[in-house]
Amino acid sequence: MVCQCFIIPKDVLDRFAKDLDLTESQRKAFADAAQFENEWRKVRSVQTRLSAAARNMLVSGAQAVTPPAVTVYNCNHSTTLPGAPVANPGTSSDITAKTAFVETRAVADFYQTLFGRNSVDGAGKTLMSSIHFGVNYNNAFWNGNQMTYGDGDGKIFVDFTRADDVIGHELTHGVTQFSSQLAYSNEAGGLNESISDVFGSMFRQWRAKQTVAQADWLIGKEIMGPDAIAKGYTCLRDMANPAAAHCLAPQPTHYSQYKNGMDPHYSSGIPNLAFYKAATAIGGNSWDKAGKIWYKALTGFAPQPNMKMKTFANRTRTLAKSMFPGDRAVLAAVNGAWVAVGL
Ligand SMILES: [Zn+2]
Repeated sequence: MVCQCFIIPKDVLDRFAKDLDLTESQRKAFADAAQFENEWRKVRSVQTRLSAAARNMLVSGAQAVTPPAVTVYNCNHSTTLPGAPVANPGTSSDITAKTAFVETRAVADFYQTLFGRNSVDGAGKTLMSSIHFGVNYNNAFWNGNQMTYGDGDGKIFVDFTRADDVIGHELTHGVTQFSSQLAYSNEAGGLNESISDVFGSMFRQWRAKQTVAQADWLIGKEIMGPDAIAKGYTCLRDMANPAAAHCLAPQPTHYSQYKNGMDPHYSSGIPNLAFYKAATAIGGNSWDKAGKIWYKALTGFAPQPNMKMKTFANRTRTLAKSMFPGDRAVLAAVNGAWVAVGL
């Protein structure tokens, strides 16, 4: 399953499109972004077939050994993808081009260094980003093939490349697409979204060299604009406290609150909290133990598009034991974390 995975859930866009505190042009920008997200849903099945065909070709292909190429394109406020290529984005005077390039390369480095994975597909796929998409576009997304970033309206949201966890989150949708192939609905959808938050947050912690105790566990903190902050929002989501009022999109924290049909951006709160609890109970760096277990649970098995949360939880229990046989505290931490969220 290919997801057209947007960082901002549609109902948040709908909410701002009706928010009378906003100007008419601001509300229109949100309504347009929500409509765009709707249209993407319609092409999802076509993208899914394309991606499956591409994957079949990969199986017989040679594995790339060099790091993936990272490319940046400038939409110049149009909505035509990918836009015009940016020459030497790493030294561009356009801070958005430079950030998209540097952070995307860092995500590739993160997956290679910590998990031995070459790009999102494990075969060196070129990582392509389009920037300055649309006018005041309040979102960022992975469309199954590339990244796209809006500039935000400067009030509720600012330039979406500013948050490295957003970049890590979206590219991780690519990793999921090319590994466990989780669907984007029901329990698998919640897992899919959570995996992106888990590795996006882990990437942000790794970049900042933060231990689990030093990390703030917020998602999307750096894209919150002045008007959102004035309304009391500090982030999109908070992995340590998914239901908190300071989240733009507060989430359930226990499996008993899960319902089929729930937007994956919400049900992901349950496995997000489990990862936070496991990683903090283990201590140290999130990527050393908890991250390794979650990565293997995602990539070490045959694809299972309709996986249940309980299946994923049990995989991590088994892996905690087999990967860290001399360290029973790891299993206890992982088990306790899932039990706490009802799984
Ligand atoms: Zn996502």
